[in-house]
Amino acid sequence: MIDLHVHSTASDGLVDPAELAGRLAAAGVTTFSLTDHDTVAGLDAASAAAAGHGLGFLAGIEITAVHEDRDVHVLGYGIDPRSPGLARFLKSQRETRRARVRRIAERLAAIGLPIGPEAVEPPPGPGRSIGRPHVARALVRAGHAASVAEAFDRWLGRGRPAFVPRVGPTVGEVIDAIGEAGGVAGLAHPGVTACDGLIPGLAARGLTAIEVWHSDHDPDTTQRYHALAAELELLATGGSDFHGDGAGRRCRLGEVGTPPDRYERLLERIAALSPLGARRS
Ligand code: AMP
Ligand code: ZN
Ligand code: FE
Ligand code: FE
Repeated sequence: MIDLHVHSTASDGLVDPAELAGRLAAAGVTTFSLTDHDTVAGLDAASAAAAGHGLGFLAGIEITAVHEDRDVHVLGYGIDPRSPGLARFLKSQRETRRARVRRIAERLAAIGLPIGPEAVEPPPGPGRSIGRPHVARALVRAGHAASVAEAFDRWLGRGRPAFVPRVGPTVGEVIDAIGEAGGVAGLAHPGVTACDGLIPGLAARGLTAIEVWHSDHDPDTTQRYHALAAELELLATGGSDFHGDGAGRRCRLGEVGTPPDRYERLLERIAALSPLGARRS
């Protein structure tokens, strides 16, 4: 299984980047891309661990854009993790995340649900990014929610009392940032984001792929985006969106991924963009 959507403790996953390859190999994954939110901090360790387990690896990222007050997640594949332009862009993204989490914590405190100060600090290690799942776990630790899923449902999700809207770059700006770092941009889990009306315009604006196969896509949804990818001549990718066991979301690790011929097409596209060729090990 080729899984091109996986998170680690460099963002809101529960598995350390160095441990991830072993965990994925045990589930039947043979090649993966680490796509942490707004950070490349886990890529070196994950790549080394992939090599140690004989797995294929593709440098990746998942960057949050904002369209009309809604989050749009954009995957980047084959990015150069050492691109200075990308590093500047991501640093600003992580600062925005931190500010948002602080505001969420203020709202929670105001409604009588204080969480510890450590909950609003990014995970230890340079360049790691924080997000609502960290707050959700803090709410569980503090006894304010029975599970991460309940914390989102009751407090943190859109329209809930501690929801704080995000500010951030447009999808086009994120596509450009990925392209400048030598990567290919894809729309993550369109069946979850539900922004179908945007996709043709984004395809014309440099979007290269859409995530057709995803843990949250049922067969009809998968079929719909499969057809849309063909219609718009977009590459099709897939991944589990694994965040670790007990991360609060259903995840079909080892069961959902990118077909090998689709992966080859993605690598060809990355190689065509970059004089260094596809960055995989
Ligand atoms: P943020 O980047 O801070 O907006 O947080 C988004 C992350 O929260 C995503 O990676 C999701 O995996 C996770 N998430 C969103 N909704 C839920 C939910 N209802 N239950 C568990 N995790 C969620
Ligand atoms: Zn996440
Ligand atoms: Fe996402
Ligand atoms: Fe994700």
